[in-house]
Amino acid sequence: MDLGIKDKVALVTGAASGIGKETSRVLLEEGATVVMTDFDEERLRRTAQEMTKYEKLLYFPADIRSPESLGQLHEYVKKSIGTIDILVQNAGATGAQGLFHTLTDEDWLYTIEQNLHGPVRAVREFLPDLRANGWGRIIFISSENAVQPYDNELPYDSAKAGILSFSKGLSRSYAREGLLVNTVSPAFIETPMTDRLMEKRSAEKNMSLDEAVESFLDEERPHIELKRRGQVEEVAAVIAFLCSEKASFVNGANYRVDGGSVATL
Ligand code: NAD
Repeated sequence: MDLGIKDKVALVTGAASGIGKETSRVLLEEGATVVMTDFDEERLRRTAQEMTKYEKLLYFPADIRSPESLGQLHEYVKKSIGTIDILVQNAGATGAQGLFHTLTDEDWLYTIEQNLHGPVRAVREFLPDLRANGWGRIIFISSENAVQPYDNELPYDSAKAGILSFSKGLSRSYAREGLLVNTVSPAFIETPMTDRLMEKRSAEKNMSLDEAVESFLDEERPHIELKRRGQVEEVAAVIAFLCSEKASFVNGANYRVDGGSVATL
């Protein structure tokens, strides 16, 4: 299937790793120009170097929490390619974990900056680009946690729920100009993010990594009936579809890529 994005420019945040890296690869395979960005400068460089076969790949480091850093990224985009048509706002992090009484104000602020205010700032910086050409796409990455909150990740749950509302609201404002806004909500995808969680679990429970994953699925994610972690390819395929011309009547939607983890309709 031709996604119809060969003449489009996509910006992918959090692109050095996991879902963002794979999404960048798929969009490049589809012929789009992709600007990969991440606040981990070293890992971004390494990732881009792995992908040198793609001539339409550009990269520049930025922290989505910082308007100044986003401004520098925007300057780079203007000078090197002009404007972007697609924003995949993927950068995020689990942030502070623990039951509510153990969390500080700093824990909350850090996690909200990473997962809600950072995405707001990224959109604010690039909205003029996305409105400029009468065709645009914003894809946010939320999480199953947005609608099925886990009590040891309340700041992350709340920020990702905020993303759902932000995305839905924003989808109303510019659709008639051709700017469509949607969200993808994954669950338990095999990336460095869940590797870190599983390494912690295996140490705490004195079990192997595979046993930690298996017990996590049994005890914490009983509705992932496939009984495995999702793969980045399985998320990137849905993100790429939403970036595409093929998704021209999809707006304000939340696509779950969670193996059934969210138990409700
Ligand atoms: P990951 O840790 O592999 O990749 C995230 C990338 O984002 C990293 O390279 C990191 O350096 C970057 N990043 C983090 N904060 C940033 C910031 N402030 N500015 C710029 N870059 C920043 O994680 P992943 O699993 O690929 O997660 C990608 C997105 O998917 C995140 O928003 C995450 O919350 C969401 N998500 C992941 C899962 C999962 O199971 N892996 C489930 C639900 C949602």
